[in-house]
Amino acid sequence: MTPRFADIAPATPDRDGLAQRYAALHARLDRGDRTAALADWDTLRREYDTWSALVHLRFAQDTTDPAAKQARDYADALAPEATELEVGMKRRLLADQTAVAAIVGAHAVRLWESDVTTFDPAIKPDLEEEAKLGARYTELLAGAKIPFRGETLNLSGLGPYAESPDRATRHDAEQARWSFFAENAAELDQLFDALVRVRHRMARTLGLPDYTPLGYRRLRRVDYGPADVARYRAQVQAHVVPLVARELEARRAIHGWDRLRFWDEALIDPAGNPAPIGGHDELVAAAQTMFDRLHPALGRFYAMMRDGGLLDLKNRPGKAGGGFCTSFPSAGVPFIFANFNGTQADVGVFTHEMGHAFQNWESRHQPNVDYLWPTMESAEIHSMSLEFLTYPEIGLLVGDAAAERFRRMHLIGDLAFLPYGVCVDHFQHAVYAAPDATPADRHRMWQTLERQYMPWTDYGDLAYPAMGGRWQAKPHIYGSPFYYIDYTLALCCAMQFWVRARRDPSAAMETYVALCARGGSAPFQDLVRSAGLVSPFADGALADVVTEAAAVLGI
Ligand SMILES: [Zn+2]
Repeated sequence: MTPRFADIAPATPDRDGLAQRYAALHARLDRGDRTAALADWDTLRREYDTWSALVHLRFAQDTTDPAAKQARDYADALAPEATELEVGMKRRLLADQTAVAAIVGAHAVRLWESDVTTFDPAIKPDLEEEAKLGARYTELLAGAKIPFRGETLNLSGLGPYAESPDRATRHDAEQARWSFFAENAAELDQLFDALVRVRHRMARTLGLPDYTPLGYRRLRRVDYGPADVARYRAQVQAHVVPLVARELEARRAIHGWDRLRFWDEALIDPAGNPAPIGGHDELVAAAQTMFDRLHPALGRFYAMMRDGGLLDLKNRPGKAGGGFCTSFPSAGVPFIFANFNGTQADVGVFTHEMGHAFQNWESRHQPNVDYLWPTMESAEIHSMSLEFLTYPEIGLLVGDAAAERFRRMHLIGDLAFLPYGVCVDHFQHAVYAAPDATPADRHRMWQTLERQYMPWTDYGDLAYPAMGGRWQAKPHIYGSPFYYIDYTLALCCAMQFWVRARRDPSAAMETYVALCARGGSAPFQDLVRSAGLVSPFADGALADVVTEAAAVLGI
């Protein structure tokens, strides 16, 4: 029977209990009982990950609940201790690589080789500080109470106004949004400055020149490095930036605007971005029909998520922003978190987060916990590809009359995302290469890169982003360094799925389901090739999709 969310109640671990269990594992290894020790260790990690995921989810569900906050602080303090024990076990196992690889697979061994270089007991206090700073940023943004036309909104609640068909409304929503960031500028600068310093210090303690190689290793990137990523950014600049510039110019002309301002970029469809057919309950029901039609395995899985209470999709005061998918590996189920606000972004939850969740579920039979999730650039292929694969049935969520407009809007939005995404990545490379830069320097770095990748950006009278502050609204820059490029790498792959699905939708869907089941059993480029896709690091990876997109959009 599938577990229900309400029944997931893992015991709270503590340092001594964990140390005892690890001591028992080492004793088993001393006796030469390697297979049993590995199985027990896998169980232990699943239990720990389940507890940690649940604590972080509870905090996100209500950042104002003192008990949830306290539990998160406890988990953040315990995490470095658990990592130390885990790294100790990995080091020991790596001493006998061949025998261990025969049990857990060669890829797990490669991941652990990377993991053990990212930790030393000397960085434990820094890890805890980093987690605290990240939690404070989440709390600060979640607590936004923004006055807007007689209402008090949080950042997510401003979303519908920021893409309103009415130009003045869009402008005012952006004005209100950036006022919040301007009011909190000092703390936003201070938090990021502290994060850069603590990350740089950890890298130096671990014997690395700066944070960048550590950032890559923490993301378990075992098959590519910063030079590959730089080549990919150059491809985006060469192929995608000109296409996006043409699309924006076409939109400006259709609307008859003298200039396309920043607040105009979110209104992609001249008739108004297609909105979902209804609120939470209607969407949850309609998505069932959509997934049933797309693939029987998807339909069954989604029904299980609904029945098990594994969805939390409504926007509430105090709830952390954004959407994500997490999982409880000892129970074997994922969980989807989101903040519905009545815009097309709600549709994305069913197509994007469900892609993550479905992959995690399809991978549940993978032999060890390292393979339940792939590295994040691969995980985002599962989520972003499902956004494209649902195109034929998307009328169920936005209405048949708006389906074609939705697809066009989504495609344009994704293309426009690529320059922004690589800009966020390039910025982080610049930031961690210059750890002594001042907050003002960083704002200038952002401005320079923004001009390179998004030369069309015109902030008008929005003073805060005009002085280089836009990046502070991007949680990944604070909480998940170097993660952001993963969306753009995955999008390059997802758009290849889109091109294939236009020729043969059912074959594309079967390839997708098979890729999901492979989970994290191989590194990024191996997974990509196993699905017959071109690696984003290969020359010309974007050429075909950009040609196809230009033809479809008529630009
Ligand atoms: Zn995602």
